[in-house]
Amino acid sequence: MKTQYIVSTDLDGTLLNHHDYQWQDAEQALTSLASHHIPIIINTSKTRLEVANLIKALPVPEQSYVVENGSAIVLSTEHANQIDLKSQYENFQYIDGKPVWVLGENRASLCQWLYKLREKYDWNFQGYQDWSINQIIEKTGLSEADAAASSKKEFSEPFEWYDTQENLQKLTDSARLSGYKIVKGGRFYHLQGSVHKASLFDFIHEFKNQLYPEFESIRFIALGDNHNDIDMLNQADYSIVIKSPTDTKLELSKNKQVIYSQSFGAKGWNEEILTLLTFIKLPTINEK
Ligand SMILES: [Mg+2]
Repeated sequence: MKTQYIVSTDLDGTLLNHHDYQWQDAEQALTSLASHHIPIIINTSKTRLEVANLIKALPVPEQSYVVENGSAIVLSTEHANQIDLKSQYENFQYIDGKPVWVLGENRASLCQWLYKLREKYDWNFQGYQDWSINQIIEKTGLSEADAAASSKKEFSEPFEWYDTQENLQKLTDSARLSGYKIVKGGRFYHLQGSVHKASLFDFIHEFKNQLYPEFESIRFIALGDNHNDIDMLNQADYSIVIKSPTDTKLELSKNKQVIYSQSFGAKGWNEEILTLLTFIKLPTINEK
């Protein structure tokens, strides 16, 4: 049976080191995946603009990518051509000329909802809407250009919580009742639509016959380091948790087999993918 393996990877703290945002230690594994025609789909809390800038530098072919914790899938040219987008799909839009599969909520509505609650209950927190680019740089360590790209959130609002855990729980409950969701990433909490990174798997299964017609099955390899990766890691066929310098080890569902990396960030990504590739029976290039 021909199986298409697909990598779905988080960026910050996973493919990119938590502190210096470098991916170069993963170059060998990236190149090896590309040579086996295994697509690497970035699946991050970052924005469209941030990912568009980053992928220009990566040594891998163009792929679709998922932004803002499953809120939108930016389709590669190939994927956009394979799916008959002329059929009227409710989720499909062109944004800045790019084909995008939108699952989340727009940021303006999220911000209106969030900051109105802050006013009403006098909760102590701040988010992207409150911060200048310089403040985002201070909090994230991003370069000025990257911080500017990061500030262009379209489907989520990151924030820092300074109030009690009890009030955070109240906010989380209110979000759920309003059809939204609070997720914890490596640096911030994020208010977003009720979506998660595993939305990618549903999308691929829905369009499998168009996207990967010559394969009988799809198997997902997921890599992540934090709470916002849990749904993706729990639903993947192979789950790799990258060791985090800021958080305790992520616990996945009971009975879930998990690979825990020995190293942090890009180095851990590189080591675990190279090890996994030796275990997966891959067809030779000629068979494909
Ligand atoms: Mg992360």
